[in-house]
Amino acid sequence: MSNKEAVAMTESYPMNGGDGTYSYTSNSTYQRESSLYAKEMIDEAIAKKLDIKSLISNSNTLCIADLGCSVGPNTFIAMQNVLEALEKKCLSQGNGSKVPEFQVFFNDHASNDFNTLFASLPHGRQYFAAGVPGSFYGRLFPESSLHFVYSSTALHWLSKVPEELLDKNSQAWNKGRIFYPSASEEVANAYAAQFTKDMKNFLNARAKEIVAGGMMVVLMPGLSDDIHYSQRSGLLIDFIGSTLMDMVNEGLVREAQVDSFNIPAYCPSPKEISRLVEENGCFSIERMQMMDPRSKMHSPFDAHTFIMHLRAVMEGVFTKHFGSEIVGETFERISKKSAEFSCLLDKSYNERNQVYFVLKHK
Ligand code: SAH
Repeated sequence: MSNKEAVAMTESYPMNGGDGTYSYTSNSTYQRESSLYAKEMIDEAIAKKLDIKSLISNSNTLCIADLGCSVGPNTFIAMQNVLEALEKKCLSQGNGSKVPEFQVFFNDHASNDFNTLFASLPHGRQYFAAGVPGSFYGRLFPESSLHFVYSSTALHWLSKVPEELLDKNSQAWNKGRIFYPSASEEVANAYAAQFTKDMKNFLNARAKEIVAGGMMVVLMPGLSDDIHYSQRSGLLIDFIGSTLMDMVNEGLVREAQVDSFNIPAYCPSPKEISRLVEENGCFSIERMQMMDPRSKMHSPFDAHTFIMHLRAVMEGVFTKHFGSEIVGETFERISKKSAEFSCLLDKSYNERNQVYFVLKHK
C-alpha cells in the first residue's frame, strides 16, 4: 500500500461538536429518523442477501464500520440496528447458536469531535469500539478486513470544492452563488465531475477493504433520476447565499468572499451511482432506490428546527471561510426570516430526497 493510497487529501468540515445548543448531537434528529427508516431496509438486506455463514467460517469476529459517523447519538443507534440484524441472521443461519464477537469502527475526519463520541459510547454495548480517523476517499482499513460497511448522510460531502468554480476565467466560475442548483450547467457539471472522482476513489478503497460476500449500505441525500438538478433543493442553501449577498450590500462581507465560497456537497441520482458502481466492477447492486424519510418523521418539521439542523451541519464549512462572527450574524438573519424560510422548506422537501443503496462485494 502506498502512502498516497493510505491518506486521501480531503478537506474536512466536521459537524458542530460537543452537546451544546448548536451541536450536531442536539440537532440531528432528522438524520436519525432517516436512519430509523433505513432500519427496515438494513434488516431486509442482511436477512435476505448476506451469507453470514461463509463470512464467519474463517473468523469469529465480524467487523463493521460506520463511515462519516460524526459525534453520535445517531451512529450508536445505527450500529445497534446493524448488530441486532447480524446477530439474528447468525442465529438463523450460523453454526447452531454460535454468535461471533463484533468490532465496530467509528470513522470520521481527524477533526471530528471523537472525544464526545467516545465519552458517550453506550453502556452495555455488545461490541468492541474503535475510532478510525481519516477520509473515506482513501484507504482506512487493511485489505479484506471489513464484513459490513454503513454510511449515512456523509457521502454527499465532496473531498473539495471543484477548482473551476474559483477560476474567474472559467465558465464554471460561480460568482454570487454558493451552490449549484440555481447555477449554470457548467457549474453543475463541475460538481458532478468532482463527485465522480470522489466516488471512484471511495469504491476503489472499499473494494479492497471489504471481504468477498461483505455488504455496504449507504444512505445519502440524492436526486431522483427524473428530476433535473435545477428543479429542486438547494433553495434553502440559496437562501443562505442571498442572506450573505444582503450582507455584502451592507458592507459587512466582501463580495469576493462570497464569490469564492461554494458548498462542497453534491446530491447524486441513483443512475449516476449505479454507473459508477458498474464501472468499478467489484460490487453487485442489491438495492438502489430513492426514499422520502420525511413521510415517516415524528419530529416537528418547522423552520426553526430545520435552521438549527442546518447550522449544526454547515457552521464548520462557513466558519472556515467567513469567520465565526459573520456566520453567527448570517444564521440570526435567517432565523428572523423564518416565515419566508418556511415556504421554501415546504417547497423543497415535498419529494423523495434521499438515495438508499445496498452493495455486495463479489
Ligand atoms: N452518519 C451520521 C453523521 C452524518 S454528518 C448521521 O447519520 O447522523 C456527516 C459526517 O460525515 C460528518 O461528521 C463529516 O465530518 C463526515 N465526513 C464528510 N466527509 C468525510 C470524509 N471524506 N471522510 C470521513 N468522514 C467524512
